[in-house]
Amino acid sequence: MKVVLVSSEVAPFSKTGGLGDVCGALAAALARRGHTVVTVSPRYGPVDAMAVGAEDTGVTVDLPGAGTRHRVRYLRVVSEDGVHHLLIEHPMFDRDGIYGDANGTFGDNHLRFSLLGRAAIEAAHLVPVRGEPLGEDVVFHAHDWQGALVPLLLEAAYRPMNQFVTTPSVLTVHNLRHQGHFAGRMFADLDLPPRWFAPWALEYYSDLNLLKGGLHHKDQITTVSPTYAAEIRTQIGGFGLDGVLRSRQDVLTGILNGIDAQIWNPATDPLLPANYDANDLTGKKTCKAALQTELGLSVDAATPLIGSVGRLDPQKGTGLLIESIPWLVEKQDAQVVVLGDAPAEFRRYEERLRQFEQRYPRHVRAWMGFSEAQAHQIEAGADLYAMPSRFEPCGLNQMYSMRYGTPPVVRAVGGLADSVQPALGDCSAGTGWVFHLYDGHHLRDALYQALSCWRDRPEAFRAIQGRGMAVDWSWDAVVPAYEAIYERARAARGEAGA
Ligand code: ADP
Repeated sequence: MKVVLVSSEVAPFSKTGGLGDVCGALAAALARRGHTVVTVSPRYGPVDAMAVGAEDTGVTVDLPGAGTRHRVRYLRVVSEDGVHHLLIEHPMFDRDGIYGDANGTFGDNHLRFSLLGRAAIEAAHLVPVRGEPLGEDVVFHAHDWQGALVPLLLEAAYRPMNQFVTTPSVLTVHNLRHQGHFAGRMFADLDLPPRWFAPWALEYYSDLNLLKGGLHHKDQITTVSPTYAAEIRTQIGGFGLDGVLRSRQDVLTGILNGIDAQIWNPATDPLLPANYDANDLTGKKTCKAALQTELGLSVDAATPLIGSVGRLDPQKGTGLLIESIPWLVEKQDAQVVVLGDAPAEFRRYEERLRQFEQRYPRHVRAWMGFSEAQAHQIEAGADLYAMPSRFEPCGLNQMYSMRYGTPPVVRAVGGLADSVQPALGDCSAGTGWVFHLYDGHHLRDALYQALSCWRDRPEAFRAIQGRGMAVDWSWDAVVPAYEAIYERARAARGEAGA
């Protein structure tokens, strides 16, 4: 199959979170299965085209937007896996941030990502891949609201001209909270016929909602875990689009993300002070001692160390974890390390963590900022991993932690519910600890079960670690599920175009 992945982030070229990781890794895994894979994403200002090995394809295209034409140029990087990464160049992307900068979110994001969608569709006709353009026998796989215009553009701008009539599109929702919401008047900038600003397309109570437009017009919709696929059809999880998703539930599928099993492998991870595997966890003890030393905590194998990595954000349950710190330290003699980045509106979390650092200098450390190395060291050096999310479309860190023999303590939502098997009361089964109600008491109860198992039943704890480390979380195991979706989309579109 020929697959065109359309995303605002594709690692290693651009990444602010899981979206970039997923698109980069899915593209590589599809290529390893023998598919022809092209990704289309912008080249943002901070990405040095020469440094990432990009060549100019020599292809440009003039695209409509805001009543004028915009010339876009295609650069290309061919990865070792054979993926053709097209990076599109336009002055609107040549800025310091991906979605915004120190002055806030960019005001023209609707136009920027409409150019991305149009450039991705045009690429199939214009950009040679292994000698000739892909043509129309492709599957467009768009991601989140930034890619969501692709199916709508196909329907509104191309099929009426008899182009891409049987070309299917798939839309993946990575986080429904972000929908591409803009004032209704900005619809005019998209250069679409006025009838597409309607409730069955891009209008959401007089506003412009790009994701909604995509959801109405994709052949298949996926999201990043089966449980999240169910949650987003409810009023609580649907962020106002639950009705749309219920109306399209026959084409909605949840597929749990994979992880990059080469980068996240404790047996070979170059960022760790010692390596280990499921047969011999000696190296993990070295990692714990090194982490305690680095953090300035008491270096003591008998003191449990609980780790957490990720955005400091109400979505991630950061508040529940922080409120549990005094109990963890004073009642459980546990150590806590949090690596995180707080957006401006949630700086209060950072301040509270700093207060606890001062109050418990031998037990609590907050590493503020973004660091791949520290993330790996926490996954390896901690005894337990805390992820008490309010909602979690998939989540990657719980999978990393299980692979690193660091059982997670998670709330039973979204991808956490789908990836962590609950340990029973006697620790005789499972890969981690799971609680249900979003409440500090329930988190502490789960932490208590986990800490008791760690302290009092080392054999059972070792078995829980082993079960988590044995799971195949790789993308190669996930790809067949996407292939089935692409086939379904092709079959449906073939019927529609016939
Ligand atoms: P999100 O909702 O942010 O996408 P995910 O768990 O799906 O959450 O993915 C986040 C990714 O970003 C993971 O690979 C995680 O390790 C990484 N990450 C998040 N915050 C940090 C940080 N402060 N330092 C290093 N890596 C981080």
